[in-house]
Amino acid sequence: MSGPKSRALFAQSQLHIPGGVNSPVRAFAAVGGDPIFIKAAKGAWLIDADDRRYVDYVGSWGPMIAGHAAPEVVGAITEQAKLGSSYGAPTEAELVLAQLIESAMPGMEMLRLCSSGTEAVMGALRVARGASGRDLVLKAEGCYHGGADYLLVKAGSGAMTLGTPNSAGVPEAFARSTLLVPFNDVGAVEAAFAKHGSHIAAIIIEPIAGNMGCIPPAHGYLHALRDISTRYGAHLVFDEVMTGFRVAYGGAQALYGVQPDLTCLGKIVGGGLPVGAYGGRKDVMAHVAPLGPVYQAGTLSGNPLATAAGIATLRCLSVPEAYSKLEARAAELELILREEAQKVLVPVQVQRVGSMLTVFFNDSPVLDWSSAMRSDTARFSHWHQALLAHGVYWPPSQFETAFVSLAHDDDAIEHTRDALKSAFGAVSRQ
Ligand code: PLP
Repeated sequence: MSGPKSRALFAQSQLHIPGGVNSPVRAFAAVGGDPIFIKAAKGAWLIDADDRRYVDYVGSWGPMIAGHAAPEVVGAITEQAKLGSSYGAPTEAELVLAQLIESAMPGMEMLRLCSSGTEAVMGALRVARGASGRDLVLKAEGCYHGGADYLLVKAGSGAMTLGTPNSAGVPEAFARSTLLVPFNDVGAVEAAFAKHGSHIAAIIIEPIAGNMGCIPPAHGYLHALRDISTRYGAHLVFDEVMTGFRVAYGGAQALYGVQPDLTCLGKIVGGGLPVGAYGGRKDVMAHVAPLGPVYQAGTLSGNPLATAAGIATLRCLSVPEAYSKLEARAAELELILREEAQKVLVPVQVQRVGSMLTVFFNDSPVLDWSSAMRSDTARFSHWHQALLAHGVYWPPSQFETAFVSLAHDDDAIEHTRDALKSAFGAVSRQ
């Protein structure tokens, strides 16, 4: 349960901000109780308005891979702030960030910076449509690609949590430009292309689904998407807003060895400040204005503070031991989760790729949206509340991914182990 200051702030906020929150996933609607108001964070820990401390596994929904207030990132932002926070004109730092990203993901031969993951996806799909002269986009059920109208169709956790898989306010005509297939189902993609192939501009996919909980791609799935899109002349767009620089420095495309035509990034490349990026083959990106006719722009695109934070974060990740450390910490957490669940005979599926993981309260492995939906959300809520009471801040929905950062040290993990003992104990007695 939230403390008195959080409760008072929430009561006030609800008078001024819809639901009291500026993004619905923060509302705790899926797990009951009120959101916790945060006043500070350092390393792996959050401090709330009532001075309670929590080990954080939300990490601002992904960006904080270097930990909160990492000295390198704070230093870079501070230095840049003294030089001005926005110019509306190009800077050397934009070039440096673009080069860092391109060296990590060689398929991104040219890229455009913007201000959010949503914008990155909208830009990438506009380019795919502009370059191909086709209108349709194929997406997988349960994947989330930001808040654009035509993508809010079976769009993962935020929408699933609210029980409104298709948002109100989206014209049917927009939604009709999106074809839906189950995640991890190659046959469904083949069938959609057999029927509509000459009209499909792009397949967009989270190469590791993270927005219905963490679901790895089935063996060969991403290669099959590559093959089908090439055969039909459609663009393969990897939405690596979550997975980029998270599961490997080169993202999921490096991990699985599949090169998309276009990649969307966000979260980590902004180091906790608002950034997005999309890019790909030069001949495709040549369609973007002012080089080509596909318009896309933004007042704060490539913002100096955000690029400084992004560059500093990528530098923290480019040291050789960064990803082995993340892997070791996340593997340790996975083991603890399995052990503590097993001790009290609570059936769970711990699904993990690198430092992203989900504990599904489910008897069977989760492969797609329909198997995710068979999870015991009531049990998850109870578990979540118990974790919170014991100082662990886990994503407040069964259908979200938890993130481990470089700042999760022995102290944070031991604290988590104790909290998990209590939380699994509590749900086993339910
Ligand atoms: N794509 C994916 C895979 C995401 O996880 C998200 C956000 O969680 C987005 C796109 C949208 O990014 P943003 O919230 O920065 O607009």
